[in-house]
Amino acid sequence: MDKNELWQALLAQIQFNISKANFATWFRNTGIISKEDGSVMVSVPNNFSKEWLENKYNKLIFKILRSLDDGVREIKYNVTHTETKPREIPSSPPLNDVYNNSAQMDFAELKVDKETNLNPRYTFNNFIVGPFNELPQAAALAIVRTPGLIYNPLFVYGGVGLGKTHLIQAIGNEIAKKFPEKKIKYLSSEKLTSGIVSSIQNHSIDKLKLLYKDLDVLIVDDIQFIAGKEKTQEEFFHIFNGLYEKNKQIILSSDRPPKAIASLQERLKSRFEGGMIADISLPELETRIAILKIKSQEKKLNFPDEIIEYVAQNIQRNVRELEGALNRLSAYQTLNNRVPDIETTKTLLKNVIFSPKKTTNPDNVIKTVACFYDLKENDILNTSRRKEIVKPRQIAMFILREELKSSFPFIGRKFGGKDHTTAIHAHNKIAKELEKDENLAEEINLIKEQIYSI
Ligand code: ADP
Ligand code: MG
Repeated sequence: MDKNELWQALLAQIQFNISKANFATWFRNTGIISKEDGSVMVSVPNNFSKEWLENKYNKLIFKILRSLDDGVREIKYNVTHTETKPREIPSSPPLNDVYNNSAQMDFAELKVDKETNLNPRYTFNNFIVGPFNELPQAAALAIVRTPGLIYNPLFVYGGVGLGKTHLIQAIGNEIAKKFPEKKIKYLSSEKLTSGIVSSIQNHSIDKLKLLYKDLDVLIVDDIQFIAGKEKTQEEFFHIFNGLYEKNKQIILSSDRPPKAIASLQERLKSRFEGGMIADISLPELETRIAILKIKSQEKKLNFPDEIIEYVAQNIQRNVRELEGALNRLSAYQTLNNRVPDIETTKTLLKNVIFSPKKTTNPDNVIKTVACFYDLKENDILNTSRRKEIVKPRQIAMFILREELKSSFPFIGRKFGGKDHTTAIHAHNKIAKELEKDENLAEEINLIKEQIYSI
């Protein structure tokens, strides 16, 4: 097997071992540069991929390469700039704008496509994937391959600043690139509403319907805002059905799942629930570090790990705030021509970081739950089905979800590589039991107290 065949064979196997999303993110533009005396040199597109492959996937890569070629003894990674796609993120905006996130947005927004309303800045290329968003990202990629035929509608939900707009616009942009003949329209739900309201007033609702009728892809952002707007819901129901019946792709985003949108007609709820519902949860520490590293590389900044970790530890709520923090640090660097040290970083971010809330992390949760039930951490992390272990394991999963908003895929993986459905099942089971078992509620409260007392 020559080096290219060896790498292709490895990729074929890796695909079955990790999620599609991670595969696409970490193994794009990789290859083998050389293979000499058992030492394999792997080329990667950037420093960040290098670190990630070294720390996360090296064992797996090594195992697979050895199984394909038992002469392999070591693997090294080398950054070679093979990325062919241009950077989509605009390079440093003018200094005055740097402190001001929204100014940066406006700058990019100038390029919004008049026909589709899509902003070309949102692409899959600059969309970072971690356990917190890999389900919706994988669904999005599947839709791009065969719009209208796989998940319809796609309903993405999650809190502010977590990348809903970015993801659903990336779908639109990618479909536009792959299928230039397709008609795509992106709308905020305010735009949708005002269009419907004014065409009702002008008696031109049929004209409006014609506009929607021809679309191949309709994307509506923040659909929760149509709650309580009866006329809009009425018309949107018909627009939705017209497209759906012709297998046209519909993509919606919201800050909550359909069943939690109050004052939304039942028939719309059930339509929204009829395709794929995927949530974006909060990024875990590891992913926040990844986001900061990738975004600073895009800005050609090189902050020491200490700084990156400080920001990631202290800014936990969403990606937009992480970007804001980086903008501040990068403004300091541009003004002073040096990287801020840790003390300066603390001062610069003082008013973005809120008073320290009680915090914890997944390992601490697992340790505390194990200790509470007199078990070893490994007991609850492995696959034993003994009753006295299953319950604490489910409780640990429940607490991870409730307290840390960890994503189900992340929780599954944390517990010995289980599937996300196992984590969902555990969460549901405990939530149900809590409704009728006061002792369990007390037990969990005690555990929580211990978790936060450390
Ligand atoms: P939402 O619509 O959920 O409120 P946005 O899509 O507007 O969030 O995201 C907020 C900011 O964070 C945007 O600048 C977006 O590009 C960035 N962002 C969010 N998620 C990601 C991600 N996974 N990778 C890269 N950038 C992201
Ligand atoms: Mg948004």
